Amino acid sequence: MISDRETFSHFVVNDVRFPTSRDLDGSDAMNRDPDYSAAYVTVHTTGGATGHGFVFTIGRGNEVEVAAIRAVEQLVVGLAVDEVLADMGSFWRRLTHDSQLRWLGPEKGVIHMAIGAVVNAVWDLYAKRQGVPLWQLLSGFTPQQIVDLVDFRHLTDQLTPAEALAILEKAEDGRERRTQELLERGYPAYTTSAGWIGYSDEKVSHLVRQALESGFTHLKFKVGGDIEDDLRRVAMVRKLVGPDVRLSVDANQVWDVNEAIFNVRRLAAHDIYWVEEPTSPDDVLGFGEISRMVRPIKVATGEHVANRVVFKQLLSSGAIDVCQIDACRVAGVNENIAILLMAAKFQIPVCPHAGGVGLCEIVQHLSMFDYVAVSANIEEHWIEFVDHLHEHFVDPVQVVKGRYLAPRYTGSGAAMHAESVTDFEYPQGAKWKAMTTSS
Ligand SMILES: [Mg+2]
Repeated sequence: MISDRETFSHFVVNDVRFPTSRDLDGSDAMNRDPDYSAAYVTVHTTGGATGHGFVFTIGRGNEVEVAAIRAVEQLVVGLAVDEVLADMGSFWRRLTHDSQLRWLGPEKGVIHMAIGAVVNAVWDLYAKRQGVPLWQLLSGFTPQQIVDLVDFRHLTDQLTPAEALAILEKAEDGRERRTQELLERGYPAYTTSAGWIGYSDEKVSHLVRQALESGFTHLKFKVGGDIEDDLRRVAMVRKLVGPDVRLSVDANQVWDVNEAIFNVRRLAAHDIYWVEEPTSPDDVLGFGEISRMVRPIKVATGEHVANRVVFKQLLSSGAIDVCQIDACRVAGVNENIAILLMAAKFQIPVCPHAGGVGLCEIVQHLSMFDYVAVSANIEEHWIEFVDHLHEHFVDPVQVVKGRYLAPRYTGSGAAMHAESVTDFEYPQGAKWKAMTTSS
């Protein structure tokens, strides 16, 4: 029997890698030579519709994510598109709680990130079908529809569906005004473009001046190398920017807890706003100790926090002061909404991790949705901005005078140019072939 109902037909998955390690773009104390990469998925339907998503990685292992997305494909092909879009909460649970795939996490790491790429791709398709940008699709849902997207399992000791509903109902007032504000003024950004650890002092100075001229008032620098050199570099930057610009630092997990406290107290001489990932993101107790000991410097983390349950502990225990969601670390939009709701409950600002490849493009939608419909707060909120690789996206972010302009295109912004995907596909793409023959 031939059915005319539209179903998910197949995925196309590409291993796309950019040779960023050649210029040390993205280099930090833990990740010395990243090749920013995407395990890039295009979800296809029998009706010819598509949605795009990806897992961000930094090179080797990207092929593992490609295989993980293939494993998730088997759970999606054949599902009716309309039924999935009508109940994205159930779709998320279907993928995340698959009784066999779940064993590979549970709810963390390679398989969870692959689920995130697929969930995000379906959200991209959904927003395109509605003819709106993702942030406005989400912001148009009723409080109950938003609650229905979230899996509250393992969260209810700190956030119940009723509490989430109350947070969202409180934010209903003013949604229209905040939407207009974003469309007119955009959303604040901070930049890490000047701060990579592999850059020379000259390059850092040049990029700092450029950032100030571009209107940024908050800059972040990588630390966690030799502490004397960190102190020297941060002092140099503080001198360049003057007293009124916020400076944050990012240690990318390299310190032990006591070492972090000692080093952050030394860096405090240069008026640090937040310290990011001072130690292992799994160490909730360690984060709590660091944040008690380095006040008033704020402690930030999230880009490597595996799931909403770890976020629950970090947020509810006061272990972090800044919540750094990542669009592609946890299992996609739905799980990030759970985290936004918990951050709103504990009144902790969400300042997303971005950069990499495509992270800015997607995560801006979550921050804008948060402002319109969840926290209703934009004070002390910034989205990270790094000026790399946007040219590969069909709808690249637009950051003007230190602010993200609100997207007006349809979808999530995850779609890459077809020629970028073929040129940088690893290892057979033309760009990689040219490099292997020339080096
Ligand atoms: Mg970081």
